[in-house]
Amino acid sequence: MQKLPMVQKKENGLTTYIPVGDTVIGRDFAVIAGPCSVESEEQIMETAVKVKDAGANILRGGAYKPRSSPYSFQGLGKTGLQYLRRAGQAVGLPVITEVLDTRDVYAVAEYADILQIGSRNMQNFSLLMEAGRSGKPVLLKRGMSSTIEEWLGSAEYIMKEGNPNVILCERGIRSVETYTRNTFDVSAIAALRELTHLPVIADPSHATGRAGLVPSMSLSAIMSGCDGLMIEVHPSPRDALSDANQQLTPAEFAALMSDVRKTLKLRERLRNEHGEDSFIARAETAGQ
Ligand code: PEP
Ligand code: MN
Repeated sequence: MQKLPMVQKKENGLTTYIPVGDTVIGRDFAVIAGPCSVESEEQIMETAVKVKDAGANILRGGAYKPRSSPYSFQGLGKTGLQYLRRAGQAVGLPVITEVLDTRDVYAVAEYADILQIGSRNMQNFSLLMEAGRSGKPVLLKRGMSSTIEEWLGSAEYIMKEGNPNVILCERGIRSVETYTRNTFDVSAIAALRELTHLPVIADPSHATGRAGLVPSMSLSAIMSGCDGLMIEVHPSPRDALSDANQQLTPAEFAALMSDVRKTLKLRERLRNEHGEDSFIARAETAGQ
């Protein structure tokens, strides 16, 4: 791999901790949950209350949406940012939302605790640099056709602007398969633990595009060593204005959270049993 001095694992093996609200990403397991898009004040408020109750740490919701068709719902824009912020404040959760355009970085940063750079913009270098200069933590999604090395190169662009707070998010890649929306690359999660000190979040919602596959893929991601999950949750998925097939109901999300907690305990137990020799233990203890 080419030299990427800022993102590559350090010799001292230390991993990066990113405090956001009450959660320290990289140390605490972080669950980001919420709808694909902010659709109304009621919708984001109801989701915020329910995901917080179920144990989520960070609220998500898109206000600027990257849609394949210009005729699809494009998001509520600034009004969506305001609804998201208000919902987060009401339940005491920090918020994350996508920034699509370099010109919007500072406006979005006024409302968001974490800026999300989406898959389609992973190699929008001017956007990466502007997000780097914003001073906000940045969650960088993997480009749907990008290699791990290209992805890390993009993270380096953000860090080079003086921003050490970068979170990587595996959201699936394009493959020959069409039954699933993307192919969830769980091996990338394990590989990143070897390559970088940055925290890694898994997004099984976009990776699979199917609500029914989200729970099992969430648990697989945990056992692969991820630092957190991003899960799309909507009060009524079938009525969602975007990504209707992949969003969980609040009840499904609550059930998943119960399994997430059990799986995290199992991961911890395996680590303790096997010590540093097990692959899970290595992923977890590398560099602490
Ligand atoms: C999203 O998180 O809503 C999104 C558009 O994701 P991605 O960039 O991974 O497609
Ligand atoms: Mn979505």
